[in-house]
Amino acid sequence: MKKIKGNTYVLEGYTNIGIYITGGEVFIIDTGSDQRISKGILEELTEKKLKVSAIINTHSHADHIQGNHLIQESTGCPIYASKIEAAMISNPMIEGFYLYSAYPIRALRRTFFRPKPSNAKDIAEISSRLPIEIIDLQGHSLGHIGLLTPDGVLFCGDAYFSEDILKKYIYPYHAYVQKAIESLRYLENIAASYYVPSHGNVTSDPHKDINYNVNLIQEISTRVFGMLITPMTRDEITSFLVRSYDIKLNSGLYYLAFSFVSSVLQYLETEGKVSNSISADGKSIWFSTEK
Ligand SMILES: [Zn+2]
Repeated sequence: MKKIKGNTYVLEGYTNIGIYITGGEVFIIDTGSDQRISKGILEELTEKKLKVSAIINTHSHADHIQGNHLIQESTGCPIYASKIEAAMISNPMIEGFYLYSAYPIRALRRTFFRPKPSNAKDIAEISSRLPIEIIDLQGHSLGHIGLLTPDGVLFCGDAYFSEDILKKYIYPYHAYVQKAIESLRYLENIAASYYVPSHGNVTSDPHKDINYNVNLIQEISTRVFGMLITPMTRDEITSFLVRSYDIKLNSGLYYLAFSFVSSVLQYLETEGKVSNSISADGKSIWFSTEK
């Protein structure tokens, strides 16, 4: 693990993992996308004669919690997240359930969408006793949080992605686009010394990356809005987005893109720009409300 500042460390990888050590207590922020990484963390902590006090998850997505089960099983440590994310970490099937809107199909029951369950609790129960400050950064997921250590290091989870990561993955998944934009703007006003996105580089100045994220969400929303002069179903809008940004999908990733499109439509609806109705032949049709 690499020191960022003071007692705050990061284990860089596909999903960055935060570690804060104070007075013999060790807090792990997210546990990554692969159980082998969490095994490595446990070995390093044992070598240093340190014990895990708690895991804190920024949110419940599988690439942030794959190591939860293993670490909790071998140390008995508690796991904390926001109330809604804790419910999903304890019952990982819920992610496939909301993406599919029914009991998930096989593609949404793979480990990418359905990690092993671990026992997570509402972080509000212990927040006053935690040395780490909880920052509300909803949007990417419904109960997404950031974690600010006393060293001024802010673990941002997936509230934003580094520009190079976004260029690779094309669009920033958010389940609640409107809140995601608010969280991005809020992030800019937090006086942290360092910012650690889960996917991207540790930086003391995230301004350019945050701007890129906001602009990309706005650009996608504007494109979807512009297209809805011709009424379309959510499936057709997803197909439009996939074609315009050349997004590569498999049957599981399709539902993520579909969920993101749903979130963009909800945002545009709140702005009064689009509306939807059900056609006589049973289609849910979205259309622009501007004349
Ligand atoms: Zn995520």
